[in-house]
Amino acid sequence: MFASVGCAVSGGGHGTVPAETIYMGGPILTMAGERPAYVEALAVREGRIVHAGSRSAAMKQVGSGTRVVDLGGRVLLPGFIDGHGHIADYIQQWTLPVLNPPPVGDVTSIEDIRRKLAEHLREKPPVPGRLVVAVGYDDSLLKERRHPTRVDLDAVSADVPIVILHTSGHLLVANSAALKLARLTKDTEEIPGGVIQRDPATGEPNGIIEEQAAYAFLPFFPRQTREEQVRVFAEVQKLWASHGITTAQDGIANPDNVKFLQEEARQGRLMLDVVSYPMWKVLTKVMRGEVALEGVEVYPPGSQVSNAGRARPGRAGMEAVPVPGEGSTQRIRVGVYENHLKIGGVKITGDGSPQGKTAFMTLPYTRPPAGLPSDYRAYPSIEQAELDAWVEWGYRNDLQMLVHSNGDAAVEAFLKSVERARRIVGAKDLRPVAIHAQFARHEQVDRMKALGIVPSFFTAHTFFWGDTHIETFGAERAFGISPLAHAHGIGLKFSNHNDSPVVPPDILMLTWTAVNRLSRSGVVVGPKERVSPYVALKAVTDWAAYQYHEEAEKGTLEVGKLADLVVLDRNPLTVDPARIREIRVLETIKEGKTIYTRSSGH
Ligand SMILES: [Zn+2]
Repeated sequence: MFASVGCAVSGGGHGTVPAETIYMGGPILTMAGERPAYVEALAVREGRIVHAGSRSAAMKQVGSGTRVVDLGGRVLLPGFIDGHGHIADYIQQWTLPVLNPPPVGDVTSIEDIRRKLAEHLREKPPVPGRLVVAVGYDDSLLKERRHPTRVDLDAVSADVPIVILHTSGHLLVANSAALKLARLTKDTEEIPGGVIQRDPATGEPNGIIEEQAAYAFLPFFPRQTREEQVRVFAEVQKLWASHGITTAQDGIANPDNVKFLQEEARQGRLMLDVVSYPMWKVLTKVMRGEVALEGVEVYPPGSQVSNAGRARPGRAGMEAVPVPGEGSTQRIRVGVYENHLKIGGVKITGDGSPQGKTAFMTLPYTRPPAGLPSDYRAYPSIEQAELDAWVEWGYRNDLQMLVHSNGDAAVEAFLKSVERARRIVGAKDLRPVAIHAQFARHEQVDRMKALGIVPSFFTAHTFFWGDTHIETFGAERAFGISPLAHAHGIGLKFSNHNDSPVVPPDILMLTWTAVNRLSRSGVVVGPKERVSPYVALKAVTDWAAYQYHEEAEKGTLEVGKLADLVVLDRNPLTVDPARIREIRVLETIKEGKTIYTRSSGH
């Protein structure tokens, strides 16, 4: 899409193999090192960077087939690496009605929700035995400032089972028909790590179902045809690529997700690198042989087989990995890419979300949810003993663990489990990831550094829910969410993420939030935790690669690394920081091949 200055220059050859593409004529920001560094030219061959340096040296690699791209002042950076998200979950989400508030959707009241659902029912007849599902409602931004209940949804239909998912993905609201389908009644016992909210007078479920209890509805979700999934997944990958992302995550994969991605990979249809982290409960089933996943072996972190086929395996697999409390017969293959898919390790859910008011806190909420006592702190999704057993298991078997931990009490549980595992098994370079780590206290962030934990922060919250968090947790705690500046100050590497589909996979918007931390109402949510644009970009390039044990392959523009690149219309380091979110991705390149250009869609 950029002016090609042609291939007329002679002087290639002479023993050197010519480059396929040479970029020059714009700021080329390498993201290597602690301070911004630019090179004049970048040369790419066979999907890898073969030169990053002077223009004159690059020109020596020009041959008759070399494409020379003049960036014309546009900016070239390493492709963005998503610290955490759920790309496979987007496949279903893509086709569901959206109940988000602006700027993602247009819902601002419970009446809007009812109207959207009624429209959807008219357009798409319900399938017997299946739920009608809509996504993205946000109680904190509804006019009524409360969750809808089953009564609100019964007004849409008394017979069709309807479920609406909260924007956090951590709770849902079911109408009476849906409760009936999932067999949740006043006699249903509480589900560990979850809550079935009830009418205090009758004990009947009020329709609001939190955390682990929400899995009761999963078997009744709408089914997509294979063709539809394949078609939508291509669109979803294009959406990710349109935001400059070249490495995506499937952050809590169920067996269907893993199988789908494996098949897509086999068919050669992954245009991004996707790292999948099966949910810990799923992995138990895999190990027990209840769920079959193919090609299952564990490779230690760092022993990547690259997509370009340069295998650097460490140990070729290892003995079967016993699961806590269970014998095991199968192997899982972890830590190597095959056709752009890598199973990165295991995902464990430690608690809920602050916007769902289920983040597990050490001190009580400033404003607890309606009807709950003033000492409400929410709750863990997993008992300490079970978490300890899983983390020890991970340490024994060289598995990277992603532990979702939003509240500081959940962070504490994770830290304790890592401290314990290192005591018992020994320190290893596994880089366990604290997913979100939003309310991590400074002292906890310091311990992460000592323990080799990588936090993956979620600064998008400062915009989307910053105002709500100030009400729910008080200004002091709200201002401390996603403490990037503190982490950077102590030299801790971290990533940053959008947790899509929780919020759109827009990396420049995310970068804007890390730099500005501006809420919807214009409050700077924690001025002291703002970071420079360069640090914000490190969290989606170099340090995110480190989180995936892929710093030898990705994250900076250095010779030998994959040519995963993004072209932006303006330089995030020199533009007015308030305008970073307006910067546009013009082109995304994966291993030397263009996978997105702005003219091609989105
Ligand atoms: Zn997530």
